[in-house]
Amino acid sequence: MSSAAIIDGKAFAANLRQRVASAVEPFVTLTDRKPGLAVVLVGEDPASQVYVGSKKRATVEAGMNSFEHRLPTSVSQNELIALVETLNADAAVDGILVQLPLPPHIDDKAVIAAIDPAKDVDGFHVVNAGRLAVGEDAFVPCTPLGCLMLLKDHLGDLSGKNAVVIGRSNIVGKPMAQLLLAENCTVTIAHSRTQDLPEVVRRADIVVAAVGRAEMVTGDWLKAGAVVIDVGINRLEPEAGQGKGRLVGDVAFDDALARAGAITPVPGGVGPMTIACLLRNTLVAAYRRAGMSAPEGI
Ligand code: NDP
Repeated sequence: MSSAAIIDGKAFAANLRQRVASAVEPFVTLTDRKPGLAVVLVGEDPASQVYVGSKKRATVEAGMNSFEHRLPTSVSQNELIALVETLNADAAVDGILVQLPLPPHIDDKAVIAAIDPAKDVDGFHVVNAGRLAVGEDAFVPCTPLGCLMLLKDHLGDLSGKNAVVIGRSNIVGKPMAQLLLAENCTVTIAHSRTQDLPEVVRRADIVVAAVGRAEMVTGDWLKAGAVVIDVGINRLEPEAGQGKGRLVGDVAFDDALARAGAITPVPGGVGPMTIACLLRNTLVAAYRRAGMSAPEGI
């Protein structure tokens, strides 16, 4: 039985982070300052604390400034927006990231709308979503951008491929579909109301699974040789004697190996690409704000 190639997102992300770090040096020489990323964290959500910690470490490792703002859960929406406006006006800040989710009394749409689109390195602002949709230069959300980089690295030209994106969130599914369309794929977006999803997926040369349901996509859903990008991060119930359950994707990995042409593992596939693309977007924002283009190949 054939076995799929494993797409090593961890290695690709390490290489991208290195390329970003190399492009930070000339920026510092030209502008006499480091690119800066401001990360805003509201509340004590443990997962968000881990993400923010990793983003800070990676930012500093790439030679950039990390500005961290931690606010209590009790902060009001107006206070949070006032902080975003201060960061918009701060010349040392090139990128602003407000860690989601926000507490229920805060409307995340209103907060994202307050971010200067030129500093919106998460690519969540409607101006960037709109630019992506009409084919203009935009900041693209980091996870789908990372998925596209892995696909192009593995397949080269994506033109004419049948791509199925499972999931239609604003942060993964929709921008992923836009990116694949811009690469001339024939794109289907599937979601919870899609009928006969296995049959839809079976037509795909490229499958991007961004659902949040552990091991939902099984090997028999796949066309032989399909390239599978698994965005899902799901923690299984711990087995007896284990503290934490295993992390799995939205694709039944072992099962898919026998049919797919290539597949990203979980962990070690899409996950590491998200932070690497955040650094990439921050670097691009810094160059643009300084009136320059980021070096080729970033
Ligand atoms: P959302 O919950 O926002 O969206 C999930 C999507 O999956 C929805 O569009 C939903 O459809 C669809 N869906 C749910 N159930 C089914 C089903 N049975 N069949 C088909 N479609 C279904 O999730 P996100 O997009 O934010 O994240 C998706 C996954 O990716 C999660 O596991 C998340 O943890 C992971 N993730 C990983 C990242 C990384 O860095 N690797 C970054 C971001 C997310 P509908 O719209 O109809 O409800």
